[in-house]
Amino acid sequence: MDSSKSKDSTNSGLQETNSDINDEEKNDLCPGFKDADAFVKYGLGAVLSATKASAGLPQTGDEYDFYRSFPGFQEFCESQGDKLLHCMSQIMQHHGCRSRMRDRNKLTGLEERFDLVVDSNDVILERVGILLDEADGVNRNQQPVMPAEFQPPKIVVSSWNRMGSSSGSRSETFRLLQAKNIARPQMKFKEKVDNSNTPFIPKIFIKPNAVKPLPSCKLLLTLMFFPSVRPEDLDVPAALADFIHQQRTQEHVEDMFAHPYQYELDHLTIQESVLSKPEPQMYKPLTETKCSFIDTLDDLVALNEKLCKLSEFAVDLEHHSYRSFLGLTCLIQISSREEDFIIDAIELRSELYILNEAFTDPAIVKVFHGADSDIEWLQRDFGLYVVNLFDTHQASRALNLARHSLDQLLKHFCNVNSEKRYQLADWRIRPLPDEMVQYARMDTHYLLYIYDCVRVQLLDFNHGQPGLLQSVWNKSKDISLKKYTKPIFTEESYLELQRKQKRSFNTQQLTAFRLLFAWRDKLARQEDESTGFTLPTHMMNKISEELPKEPQGIIACCNPVPPLVRQQVNELHLLVQQAREMPLLKPEVTMFGPHDTSRVSESDLQHCSPDGKLDTLIRLIILLILELETQNDHESLSVAQMKARRIIECFENPFRMYLPSSDVHISKNAKFDPSSKIFEVIKEWKLLSMEQQQKELEAKKEANKKAKEEAKERTKKVAGNGVKLESAKGGGKKRERVASEVGESTPKPSKKQMKSAEKPQKTEPPPKDSFKPFDYSQSDLKVFAGTKSKDNTQFDPNRQAQGFKKKKTARGQKSNSGAGNRSMSYMAGKSDRGFRHNWPKR
Ligand code: AMP
Ligand code: MN
Ligand code: ZN
Repeated sequence: MDSSKSKDSTNSGLQETNSDINDEEKNDLCPGFKDADAFVKYGLGAVLSATKASAGLPQTGDEYDFYRSFPGFQEFCESQGDKLLHCMSQIMQHHGCRSRMRDRNKLTGLEERFDLVVDSNDVILERVGILLDEADGVNRNQQPVMPAEFQPPKIVVSSWNRMGSSSGSRSETFRLLQAKNIARPQMKFKEKVDNSNTPFIPKIFIKPNAVKPLPSCKLLLTLMFFPSVRPEDLDVPAALADFIHQQRTQEHVEDMFAHPYQYELDHLTIQESVLSKPEPQMYKPLTETKCSFIDTLDDLVALNEKLCKLSEFAVDLEHHSYRSFLGLTCLIQISSREEDFIIDAIELRSELYILNEAFTDPAIVKVFHGADSDIEWLQRDFGLYVVNLFDTHQASRALNLARHSLDQLLKHFCNVNSEKRYQLADWRIRPLPDEMVQYARMDTHYLLYIYDCVRVQLLDFNHGQPGLLQSVWNKSKDISLKKYTKPIFTEESYLELQRKQKRSFNTQQLTAFRLLFAWRDKLARQEDESTGFTLPTHMMNKISEELPKEPQGIIACCNPVPPLVRQQVNELHLLVQQAREMPLLKPEVTMFGPHDTSRVSESDLQHCSPDGKLDTLIRLIILLILELETQNDHESLSVAQMKARRIIECFENPFRMYLPSSDVHISKNAKFDPSSKIFEVIKEWKLLSMEQQQKELEAKKEANKKAKEEAKERTKKVAGNGVKLESAKGGGKKRERVASEVGESTPKPSKKQMKSAEKPQKTEPPPKDSFKPFDYSQSDLKVFAGTKSKDNTQFDPNRQAQGFKKKKTARGQKSNSGAGNRSMSYMAGKSDRGFRHNWPKR
């Protein structure tokens, strides 16, 4: 009984302290104690004696049961228990937690109380964590961050590109360099970023070096966005009207999403000159090399002209992804053998397309190191493509070098130590600190020399045979064929992420995860922030796992609390509440939940079959579904089959993904094939079933073929031939160019000079009969400008897509403000890109 007494006194001690805190918390940190240390000392002592005392209590089992048989003991236990519960309730109340500790339901009471204690402990501990962090954060913030008072960071960062694949101690050596006060560059973008949940449409409007012209996309897009506009209503010649009509067919819609340089890349032949052994040309020392920072249009045009005269140049990009939904390219570094250039890709974002002139010139080699992302970023932000790419990363792989990072190549070939990098620096910073310019510049400065060296080695490696070198060219070409795809939100996207988490969630947790995922996606697009900034996945996991009952609990799951979470905590709270209202099913059972495919993930299917029985059951059900899907004749079904069908019909078939791939909508392959996503969307636009589309397509194809022939004949008469010939300067060879641009012939700087003759022209001549480009120079494109937003029937991808993305309404409304919001820049009045008849005079 001694032990109980000491526990009693501990309780009242805590109680006093607690109420004291209530009364005086504003005045004093630890009322009744001279400082925090004294309080901690006292607290620890109290906890220690309480623990000791509880250990002295009769053990559960026989000992306890024996004591319980004495009424005195029983009474004492109850009164002490009540006191304890009262005390705990008070503490919980003080912290704003649910605190009905004293509600006594003998059956479920203990379990519930235990839950309450766990919840409260978490909330309190998290709050402690947050406070400590805040205290810590205050200290950290005192150090100035870039750029104004720019200081070289003590811990310098390095690229994944350079560090090789071993990620061992990365966290120690990498640090995210942030500048907290950077104005969002998005604010001054001429064309608003298109975060809508629609597939990416290539931004390109002018296609230099075209062998196959662009699908007459400006018209097509205009018509897609204003589907109510009938070609006959436009003041266009009949032939053009016909043509427009045809453009509205499925085929052309698909064309629109295609890689604009697919044809050119498919027909690109590597020049003999780059397959033979070069004499490595040493790089110029950095200090003797001119480095220009390009941030005006005039300089960019001049740069383009310079580049067009070269036979090779090196390119690299710096990118920022934290404070933007899709990410944004901040810098483009270019090096020739003579000079380095750093382009401010934020400032010149809507002008950079002019570099396509050099970037897609098949006679100019573009050397990148690890171009995969670069290729996508160039497309996404500027509509830039690369024809004739050489990727030194691929070369390093083919050579079987120990490591393939640029760091390693620099060390290996140039004996340059470039370990220390600003790779994760915030490249949006302007003006760009000189240190960062220097670092950025190093990424391309040596690359052409490395290009020479690896070519020599690739040939030597293969005993002078070009096979290995050729394979690097081919791999590089594959990379330049990569298409940027926008992240598309579907009702199932969260499952992909959830699967990666390797946690098994019950129905409530999974629902929370699903709702949070959708909230995060929507808000991130709307605010143009990354999902990681909006709500990092690990926090999303924690909230889903804990399903906090109070908004405060949600805050407690996040450390540090993301600004958007703090702002919308009530909204999030409602989502968590909604999840809590789901019937609680363990993962095993979840797959049978009606109408909720969210409960079925492949990992669930795997998890929930410890003994294989479930696996078998699933297989049987799949077989049954397959059988029933193919058996349309209800009459011939057995009673069991009918029953099964009825059951299955109650479900939104969670096994669709296992059905044969002929069903495009559900095919697993198709799911991961970006072009089929597009297909899905197109399907939504057309609101047709696949079969209907298929049939319609077949029928149309035939008719179109005929009509096309006729229309082309007519358009030819109306608009003349779009093929333009230019003579190559300084040489006898002629180079055919196709004016694929809309509304005018190829716009190019008037002083543009052609490639020098020593660059062999390997590109096949355009297949004359398959491509007869239409020349719009005769048509009055201004007619499209006037039709803008007059009627509500204008195309709104969000609205159209709602059929399968019902959660997107808010976003849809936001982007409804006008099609001009999209990244496409063909709207007169919204942007002059594509309408620039001549590039700026120099
Ligand atoms: P690099 O090609 O190495 O210059 O890298 C280009 C861009 O990729 C950088 O500006 C970063 O945005 C990004 N990046 C490079 N290294 C990493 C890394 N280790 N982790 C995340 N992003 C990186
Ligand atoms: Mn790079
Ligand atoms: Zn770089």
